Amino acid sequence: MKNKKIIFVTLIFTLALTSCSNNNDNSKTNISSKEILNEQAKKDSQAKKVEVIKISKKLNAEDLKKYKPNELGLVMLLEYHSIARPEARWSRTPENFRKDLETLYKQGYYLVPFRDFVLNKMDVPLGKSPLVLTFDDSREDQFRYIKKGKEIVKIDPECGVGIIEDFSKKHPDFGKAATFYVLPYVAFGQTKEDGKKKFAFLASNGYEIGNHTVNHPMLPTLSDEKVVKEIAGNVEGVQKLLPKYEVNTLAYPFGGVPKNLKLAEQGEYKGTKYKNIAALLVGSEPSYSPNSKKFKPMLLPRIQAIQSEFTRHFALFKSIPGYKYISDGNKETITIPNNLPEGIKNTLREDLKNNKKLIRY
Ligand SMILES: [Zn+2]
Repeated sequence: MKNKKIIFVTLIFTLALTSCSNNNDNSKTNISSKEILNEQAKKDSQAKKVEVIKISKKLNAEDLKKYKPNELGLVMLLEYHSIARPEARWSRTPENFRKDLETLYKQGYYLVPFRDFVLNKMDVPLGKSPLVLTFDDSREDQFRYIKKGKEIVKIDPECGVGIIEDFSKKHPDFGKAATFYVLPYVAFGQTKEDGKKKFAFLASNGYEIGNHTVNHPMLPTLSDEKVVKEIAGNVEGVQKLLPKYEVNTLAYPFGGVPKNLKLAEQGEYKGTKYKNIAALLVGSEPSYSPNSKKFKPMLLPRIQAIQSEFTRHFALFKSIPGYKYISDGNKETITIPNNLPEGIKNTLREDLKNNKKLIRY
């Protein structure tokens, strides 16, 4: 409460938000919505040069009507396992994964790092909806090198990372992020040396590595000591491959939450400490916004990345106005429509610590 700096603004027909300074973006102030859209439309061979514009401008009534920003809306955290053929309950084919990205891109989603979502510091362009990709179990088909003997030729364009890399090169205005919940002694199959290179690649290319324990146990069945051993053991294992990497998010194996939830948050086993800022369940709903008081970082639901779940959730987002999170393009403000569906309205957190301004319209 002490840092609460919420300014309620009533909007009638015109609205002028105070433009917040954005040091990274000095040359891009006062751009028009048209320019933003033009930027987003570029996805040809020059795509690499296209910058995603971070909005730092005054929104007017027309912008609000057009983009309908809603930062109390729900966010999809998608959960993938294998990227392999044939399509199955725990396996999405490379073709379908590419198609998922294409569909999500066309529907205005924008990839954000999971940590940015949890810490409520997502940087999402105006009108876009944040999307979190997660992959569990560190299977080889998520990140595979094509090799000639011991030599690495390239990242397999058919594996999860290969597909994301290719897609984000063609569509830099889709963002690039995904979190891999690894079993450190599996580490995407192949060799241990390859595992080291893959972890290093992930960490330096916009991806995150998360904790999925060591042995993938049902945590609710374990003693407190064993829960701590599993979670700390993952950190130790990851750091053997990538020294000093900070593992601070967790995906519960099978979605099973330990009896003592505090142990998911922090603990220590034989000198290895861990502290998780968030933890993920398995099913089966979109997450509340980090601006919502219903947001529970240690119990965040995910949506299985299978066709039936996509179909179900796309239909919900389409049919319920105010259900989906839509960014106002400004990290310093929270923009919320007055009309929101039950379950979402009146859920704004009162303890917003990050000095954001609240805009209602
Ligand atoms: Zn798993």
